[in-house]
Amino acid sequence: MHRERVSENVFWFQSEVYAQVTAGVVAGPQWAVVIDTLALPEETMAIREFIEHELNTPVRYIINTHYHADHTWGNCFFPGATIISHAFCRQLLAEKGVPSLEAARKQNPALRQVKIVLPHMTFEQGELTLRVGKKNLILMPATGHSPDGVSVLVEEDRILFAGDAFMPLPYIVDGDLDEIAASIKKMGRMGLENIIQGHGDIILRGEIDSAVKENLNYISSLRKSVKAASKRKIPGDYLDEINIEDCGKSRVALGGLAISLHQRNVRALYQQLADKKDGGDEGEE
Ligand SMILES: [Zn+2]
Repeated sequence: MHRERVSENVFWFQSEVYAQVTAGVVAGPQWAVVIDTLALPEETMAIREFIEHELNTPVRYIINTHYHADHTWGNCFFPGATIISHAFCRQLLAEKGVPSLEAARKQNPALRQVKIVLPHMTFEQGELTLRVGKKNLILMPATGHSPDGVSVLVEEDRILFAGDAFMPLPYIVDGDLDEIAASIKKMGRMGLENIIQGHGDIILRGEIDSAVKENLNYISSLRKSVKAASKRKIPGDYLDEINIEDCGKSRVALGGLAISLHQRNVRALYQQLADKKDGGDEGEE
């Protein structure tokens, strides 16, 4: 696991075993806040070790940026901490997380010690502010990767923990293309020092504009290509031909995962557009 100090009392962690997923810690004088847990127990335990033994402080709060396994399945390793999320996150973790953990356990013995712990405190609209030492953490909705996404702004440092609404490759299989575009645009206008992506490396101030542009360009290229393929007689053949480079992204992003995420984006968007069309025809009043 990589670890970096981003600012005073603000730390970043990145998995070396699963999809470069990230987590964060903001420490105060009496307790610390963890932003997301990592995918596998040993890495989440290493974060806890660091906080308890290097920062010498207990964890009082965990923020889940969304319900996906790689961000929430470490909740159980912080007994006594209060977990905070969007209300949908709690609902989706209960509905989908519990059965998917059961299935995953059969494949991976390392998950045997994992239990789903549902958030204790949720919010639905607006913002929620948590004060840690001298810093405000402002939680706000950031949807598009998933319907329950939140991002966390460390107000004084202008550091944004973006969750998966910002990634080296926007990923919308469980989300919505328009919503993720809106989230990314908003982040681009926030005057940030750093964007901490849910996966991948930290984006520095001087890199933010081009990262935002590249992600928005990917989204519009993807939309254009999928729409064009949808109009063909056999869309499947054309969908297979939409390659990641034509959408302005590299296939080696995210340790080589990008290419398969892109292919899943193509299929998911095709399906979502088809569903919307069906829904629109029937549902319009
Ligand atoms: Zn993720």
